[in-house]
Order: sequence, then structure tokens, then C-alpha cells
Amino acid sequence: MKDQRLHTFYQPKMSVNPDNLTGYTQNPAKPRLLMEYLERNGLLEFFLLDDNFPPMSREDFYIAHTKEMVDNFFDKGKTSKILHIKWTPEYAESVKYESASLYHAIRHAVQHPEEVCFSPSGAFHHANPTRSALFCAFSGQVIASMKVYHEFGLCGSYIDLDGHYGNSIDNSRDFVPDIDKAISPICGNINIIARHQVYIEELKANLKTLRNEIIEDIVHYVVFCHGADSHEWDELASQLSTEEWVECSRLVYTFIHDLQNETHKQIPLIVILCGGYRRDDYNSVLSLHTTDLVTCLNILCGQDINYKTEVLPRMIK
Ligand SMILES: [Zn+2]
Repeated sequence: MKDQRLHTFYQPKMSVNPDNLTGYTQNPAKPRLLMEYLERNGLLEFFLLDDNFPPMSREDFYIAHTKEMVDNFFDKGKTSKILHIKWTPEYAESVKYESASLYHAIRHAVQHPEEVCFSPSGAFHHANPTRSALFCAFSGQVIASMKVYHEFGLCGSYIDLDGHYGNSIDNSRDFVPDIDKAISPICGNINIIARHQVYIEELKANLKTLRNEIIEDIVHYVVFCHGADSHEWDELASQLSTEEWVECSRLVYTFIHDLQNETHKQIPLIVILCGGYRRDDYNSVLSLHTTDLVTCLNILCGQDINYKTEVLPRMIK
């Protein structure tokens, strides 16, 4: 069994102050909003807080992006129009810590596979080597996995159940040397393009392939990103009912649980957030993520937490 709490890589600097949000999305403040939600619901005791990690350096961002793009962002406040987030010094600082949170979560998980690591991050999967896109400033997951590969020689897989296709890893394949060794070309970027029961069947099929890659020692760690925007009442996507959405969490954590029993070894697991867009009721987004985390705690960490998902039907188009 994994340890009983989620080792959580969070510090306030990885989040913009929610009062300073101006654009469409609350993503830049999501790490803080989620941690506050967990606290309001009396769940913080299940999260072992690690708030002492340094930010990513300028050189780290060059791993997955052109120098021009990175320098324009940090020195001139220049972003791609399709980022759809207004640049501020606070936002620029937060993205350094958001990527760092994921990197340190993976780094810790591969060294301590008996602990599930949690990074309340996830605005990464639409960025590409030359520009930010769709609320994602940089490819934090590519940077994190490349650093972990160079340090430990390990290869990862991302189970990306956000409502949108995560293009970032695929778009980095020609730009980042050795990325195929750091993120599996077969199972490194699992995305499901389907709805309802077909979605669930496709997830099961993908997990079968991933199982083989883990058993064959090709994939050494798993990052699970259950975006809340794959829920049917989200504003920007709609694939799964609440029950189906939670079933996907159950499938992934049971998959890890069973594989650990079968192989008699701990599989490093890192949980992150990804998208979720509800201007009418952001609590619905936070509640779905919380349900995912509680499912993880109950299946993998021996907890028996009774948390009720609070998702309201969408009020606006
Ligand atoms: Zn999304």
C-alpha cells in the first residue's frame, strides 16, 4: 500500500491571487482555490504539504521552448494572443513555480514510489515549442519529464483525461532531443477522444497497453491528469456524466493498485489537475478534482473518506 497521505507540492507562489484574475479562466489561481476548497471541506489532513521547492530557472524553459519565446515572455511580457491570459509579473512568477511543482512531485515520486505525489498544477498541455496557447504558457510536463530523464534515466506516461487533446507532448517530439526516452512514444500521452461509455472502454484499452509498457520496464512512472472539463456540464467540453467521470478515476487508481499487487513493486504515481471551466459555479470544478483526490486516497492510501461530489448543472451556455 502507498503511504496514507498525498505528498503535495504546493506553495502560494504557484498561484495568482484570485482577486487579481481578469480574463476568462480561473486556471492561474486554481492551485490556491483548490487548496482553499480542501481546507473548507476539512480534508487538508490528508495532504502532506511540501512548500520548499525552488522555481524553474530560465534555462529550464529553454528545454522545451525557443529562447526567443521564453525571453519574450519573461523579459518583455510578450505572449501569444491565443494564450488568452493577460500577462502580469505575478502570473509570470507563478508559471515558474507551477512547472517546478510538477517537476518536484515527479522527482520525489520516482525516489519514494511508496508515496503518491500531488501537484495542484496543470496548465501545460496546449503550449508548444514556439508559443503559448489556450491558457497554457509553457509545456511544464515536457520540461519536468526531460529533467527527470536526464537525472534518473526514467521514462513517464501521462494519462491526460482533460476534455481537450493535449498537443504539447506531440508538438515537442521534433524539438526536444531524447524526448522519446523521457515520455514514451506509445503510451506517453494517453488522450481519449470519445464520449460516455465509449470513452471508458477506450480508457480501459489504453490502460492495457500501458500495463505492458510498465511490466516491460519501458514506462517507470505515471502522471494522471483528470481535467474537470471532460465533465458533461463544463463550458468548454463535455464527455462524461458525473458517475462516468468518477469511474475513470476509479479505473486509473485500481489499475495502479492491481498492478502493484501483481508486480510486487510500487509504481511512482503523480496526480495533477488540468482544465475545468465553470463561470457559473467554480465549486463544481473544485469538487470534481477533490473527488478524484479522495478516490486516490481511498483506493491507494488505505483511507475511507466519505466526500460527496457537489456538481451543479450548468446554468450558462
Ligand atoms: Zn481542457
